[in-house]
Amino acid sequence: MIKKASTYENVTRQFNKAADLMGLDPQIRKILSKTTNEIVLNFPVKMDDGRIEIFTGYRVQHNNILGPYKGGLRFHPAVDIDEVRALATWMTWKTAVIDIPFGGAKGGIQLNPTDYSVHEIERISRRFTYALGNNIGPEYDIPAPDVNTNAQIMAWILDTYLSTIPPQERNRSLHVVTGKPIASGGSVGRDKATGQGVVFIIEQWARDRSFDLKGATYTVQGFGNVGSWAARLLKPHGAKLVAIEKASGAYSNPEGIDPDDLYAYVKAHHGLIAGYPKATPIDHEAFMSTKADIFIPAALENQITAQTAPLLNVRLVVEGANGPTDPDGDAILAERGIELLPDVLCNAGGVVVSYFEWLQNKRSEFWDLEEVDTRLHKKMVSGYERVREAAQALKTDWRTAAYILALSRLEKVYKERGIFP
Ligand code: NAD
Repeated sequence: MIKKASTYENVTRQFNKAADLMGLDPQIRKILSKTTNEIVLNFPVKMDDGRIEIFTGYRVQHNNILGPYKGGLRFHPAVDIDEVRALATWMTWKTAVIDIPFGGAKGGIQLNPTDYSVHEIERISRRFTYALGNNIGPEYDIPAPDVNTNAQIMAWILDTYLSTIPPQERNRSLHVVTGKPIASGGSVGRDKATGQGVVFIIEQWARDRSFDLKGATYTVQGFGNVGSWAARLLKPHGAKLVAIEKASGAYSNPEGIDPDDLYAYVKAHHGLIAGYPKATPIDHEAFMSTKADIFIPAALENQITAQTAPLLNVRLVVEGANGPTDPDGDAILAERGIELLPDVLCNAGGVVVSYFEWLQNKRSEFWDLEEVDTRLHKKMVSGYERVREAAQALKTDWRTAAYILALSRLEKVYKERGIFP
């Protein structure tokens, strides 16, 4: 997968389309088309062999009119200010669409995690947290996992943050980060939440179309947190995974790949898919052309573009990743009659359960899985219905409808509150 043009430019094109269609107030348009804060930190970390390496970390805070900044941290070689800016902006739209009291932010460190030992990743995570200082905080800006970060990294961030604040404040600051391990204050159901949300959305779509998921075929790009959970949670519906792509390769099997078996294989092979014996290796183009009912991109941005959108041989795209389809890709899918359910709706399950974790920490409560799942289901279904109704009423695509819902909410609050002074 080659990174295409500026990802932030894609966000801007999506934003302008929605803002034009709804007639967004030009003053508020000026505010929302800029990020609020962009923090770039160069910080030193001691490597296992005693060398010092300098890393570049980012935290971009797009908007917090609806609540504290919220968004994940990504460890990836392609992390740069343009990508983080785009991801932070998408978070503002997502929290507004799904209706939780958070704003939008995102962060990350430009690195390839496979180049470092676990101890080095721990020191990098801790030193980044220390460098961020008061730019994050439980009522101000709350990070979470994203690509190549996980619950363990959140535990190190939590521990580092708590160690830098007065002892009296520590036990009431657990909600500085979400996606934590359960014993360290995490929520049950957070790990699977994004994939679970994707599946709840697919269920609604199937109900609306009288489409039987039993025997339906699907392909998934990315088999990390989002992709593996979405694939595994679709299995009980009787749907069949026919192709999968990871950074380490793509595989297909028209008879179906068992997502649980694949998960066990990948886990036992250091996260790599190479050599999976129950499917045939295929190249990227063959993967993108695989015939199926549903395609779930759950890896990185800019995968469905002017070059690849003509290859797709599916009926529905459900965006698990952030920004997998660029505006040219969107236009081609629409022309070809391929339906698309957008990221800001489909992958909101993660931030919704992060919100539940944040609430549980604030109230010193522990909810059980049934409670988390029931509340998540309600949020996802009502988000789906709002976007569907807006798309019908405005006679537009689902992405633009979702943006218009988000922008209308933000516009209303800005109009009520006005601009200081
Ligand atoms: P992850 O690190 O757990 O998994 C990423 C997966 O993508 C891996 O399987 C990796 O092999 C694959 N991948 C990476 N480069 C690839 C390539 N070039 N070709 C094919 N596959 C490739 O990350 P994740 O948390 O699952 O995040 C995936 C996407 O979902 C990202 O866009 C992220 O922003 C988005 N997202 C994540 C969450 C969350 O809760 N984790 C929430 C909302 C959105």
